Parts: sequence; C-alpha cells; structure tokens
Amino acid sequence: MGLFSSKPDIKKGDMVYAWTSDAEIAKKAECGGAVTTLLKYALENKMVDAVLAVQRGTDIYDAVPTLITDPKKLAGSAGSLHCGTLLLSKMIKKYLGGAKNQKIALTVKGCDLMGILEIAKRNEINLANLFIIGVNCGGTVSPIMARKMITEKFGVDPDTVHKEEIDKGQFIIEYEGGHKGISIDELEEAGYGRRSNCRRCLYKVPRQADLACGNWGVIGDKAGKATFVEVCSDKGADWLSRAAKAGVLATEAPNPKGLEMRQKVEGAMLKLGEKWRKRDFAALSKDPWGVISKETSRCIKCYSCIENCPVCFKPVEEMAKKSYMVEPGQVPPNPMFHMRRFAHISDSCVNCGQCEELCPVEIRLALFSHAIRAEQDAVFAPKFGKPAYSN
Ligand code: FAD
Ligand code: SF4
Ligand code: SF4
Repeated sequence: MGLFSSKPDIKKGDMVYAWTSDAEIAKKAECGGAVTTLLKYALENKMVDAVLAVQRGTDIYDAVPTLITDPKKLAGSAGSLHCGTLLLSKMIKKYLGGAKNQKIALTVKGCDLMGILEIAKRNEINLANLFIIGVNCGGTVSPIMARKMITEKFGVDPDTVHKEEIDKGQFIIEYEGGHKGISIDELEEAGYGRRSNCRRCLYKVPRQADLACGNWGVIGDKAGKATFVEVCSDKGADWLSRAAKAGVLATEAPNPKGLEMRQKVEGAMLKLGEKWRKRDFAALSKDPWGVISKETSRCIKCYSCIENCPVCFKPVEEMAKKSYMVEPGQVPPNPMFHMRRFAHISDSCVNCGQCEELCPVEIRLALFSHAIRAEQDAVFAPKFGKPAYSN
C-alpha cells in the first residue's frame, strides 16, 4: 500500500482523502463528493458516453437507476440512498447492450459489482468499457422495512424524514423536528434493520472496482467533508490523477489513525457478517429440505426470481415450456422447478438478495442459494483458494 500526498502519479494501491471543488456537488454529496465529481469529469472529458447513477425518486425510499449523458445533470445524482435495494448488474446487460458499444461510468455497491463480474465471465458485459466506482457498503434496508421501522421503532412519520444514513453502527434519520439514531444491533435483534443478505455479506469494500470510495477512515477536520478513495486499478489511478490535475478534486494523504480505524471498522463488519452467516445457516441446517420444500410450496411461478437473478440466463420463456421435470402451468410447481434453479445458479450466487426481495410470496430464496454457495466455497477453497470476492 502506498500513501499518496502530491497530485501527480497516483498509482494502484494508493489511498487518498478527496473532495470536490464544485459547490453544487459539495452541497448534495454524501461525503466529499469525489464520486460525483469523478463521474462528471469522465463525462465532460469524453472518457465515457454515459454515466449510470442512482438518483432519488419520489422520496428517500425510492432509488431510481438513471442514465445521464449531460454532465450538468450529474449533481442531481449525488448522495447515498441506503434504502435503495436495486441491483444494477443485469440492467447493463438488458438495457445497455452489455456496454459492448458504449463506454459507461457507474457507481456500484459490492453486490452490483459481483453481479457485473459474473455476467462478464459469461461474455455478456464488456468490462473494458466500464469505469467502475465501488462504494463501501455496510448494508441496505428495504423501503418497506425502513418505513415500518421508522414508524414503529423511531416513532416518527416516515414521510417527514428527509435524510437517512448508517454511521458508527447506527441507523440515523433526520426529520422535520429533529434527528434520531438507533444502533443497528438493537434494531436487528428486534427484527428490523438491514436486509438479511446484507447482514451476511462479506464484501464491504469493493476492491474489484477501479476505485473504492467510502467514509470509513476519514477523521479530523476532514470528517464528513472528504471521501476516502482506495485506488484499485491502473484505470482508476489514471482517472483520479487526471481529475486531480484538472483541479476538479483536491486530495491529501489520509490520516494514519484514520487508516487504522478504517481497517478496524472493516474487520468488525466482516465479523458481524460471519455472525449472521452462522446464525442463518445453522437455523437452516436443522432441516434444510423440510424448510426449503415448505417455503417453495408457496410459489406462484411468477418467474421474478429467474428474471432478476444476475447469474441466471435461462430465458423465462424457455423455463415456461414443458420439460422432463416440470409441467407447464402447474401451481405450485413441482419441487424440481426450484431444485433445478438452485442446481444451476447456486455455485455462482453472489448473495445480492434480489430473488428474495422481489418474490411476491416472500420465500427466503437468497438464503437457500447463499447457503449452498457458501458450502461449496468451503469445500473448494482449501484446494483452489478463496474466491476473488467473498460474497
Ligand atoms: P457522492 O458524490 O455523494 O455520490 C454518491 C454516489 O452513490 C452517486 O453516484 C449515487 O448515484 C450513488 N448511489 C446512491 N445510492 C446508491 C445505491 N443504493 N446503490 C448504488 N449507488 C448508489 N461508506 C462507508 O465507508 N461505509 C459504509 O458502511 C457505507 N455504506 C453505504 C451503503 C450504501 C447503500 C451506499 C449507497 C453507500 C455506502 N457508503 C458507505 C458509501 C458512502 O455513503 C458514500 O457513497 C461514499 O463515501 C462516496 O461519497 P461521495 O460524497 O464521494 O459520494
Ligand atoms: Fe442474487 Fe438470488 Fe441470484 Fe443469488 S440466487 S445471485 S441472491 S438473485
Ligand atoms: Fe416462485 Fe417467488 Fe420465484 Fe415467483 S419469485 S417464481 S413466486 S419463488
């Protein structure tokens, strides 16, 4: 790891504090606005044709994926939406031609990135055309859960909340009349809090991106005002160098205590992820077949889990046809419908949670696929090493 302190010659492995010189971005940004500034710089300087960002829709619980081609519109996409539980990976394949004919810069959470990498392995996304900024992610809260939790645990009308954030282990809201924070542990023990797949996630700093950005490790006078940037690729180093040299971003070397703190927080989050894995998988292991067959018997065969899974490529129309194992039109479907699905996707399940999130009958599909994937990883890791990213 190198520590970068002067503007030129940023290289892979460097870490910096960075903040924007654009007043409009600074006002709306989550931290130092480095992410939005880098995206704007890439678009303005024709490094990319478009930016894929996530923007606030009708309220703070509504995260909308947005394709931006006018650099002036980028400031509108600044800020983090922790109740934005969407996944960008399959959108790149489905709606942006897999970035095969255009260059796209985008912000991703760890799960978005793992999905992108899985789709790229299947030659359906061209990674060379992507400029990827990963954001550290401690987890997301589903919009429905957020509203319920804010009403029942915070005693606040969710429609009066204008900002939410997850900081120092707390879920914090700002609303008309004040602000309130409750520890995530307390919320989760009471059955509220982050999505269950996020609790189990072990990919907190997305180091397979070109740049990994977050707020962990920013302390002292820069706390809340700078973005912590870890340079993860040569492409990322070049991008950050060019933006710094152009003067759109200011940078300085991180505070060494901040670095220590960042490592500690990441370690603590990983431990918490392990705790949830143990808890969720142990509960399932008592009677896996009983639990899975009981829950999947609620299936109404809407195909949403197939349509939205980033590692599933079987066209829904194909799945709907008669096969040797599954009769078309049968509801609930024969258990082979789900067994076949688990068999072909679980070895690359990235625990993004989309199948579970979008299942209309609330089957814990992500838990089942993730448990199978984790068990396979445990078998193969001693022989072939740990996977590049640990989902
Ligand atoms: P900005 O300039 O404000 O840009 C933010 C970017 O994030 C924009 O491009 C926007 O489109 C994008 N974005 C907003 N919401 C989403 C979403 N739901 N999914 C994908 N992209 C989105 N940092 C930590 O250090 N620790 C954490 O625990 C942590 N948890 C996070 C959880 C979530 C769900 C998100 C989205 C971010 C999290 N971050 C975390 C990152 C942090 O909040 C900032 O995004 C980061 O520090 C960059 O700050 P900035 O001011 O440079 O970003
Ligand atoms: Fe995501 Fe579910 Fe597919 Fe796993 S099976 S990658 S959790 S959608
Ligand atoms: Fe069945 Fe749920 Fe999948 Fe729809 S999303 S096919 S109801 S398991």
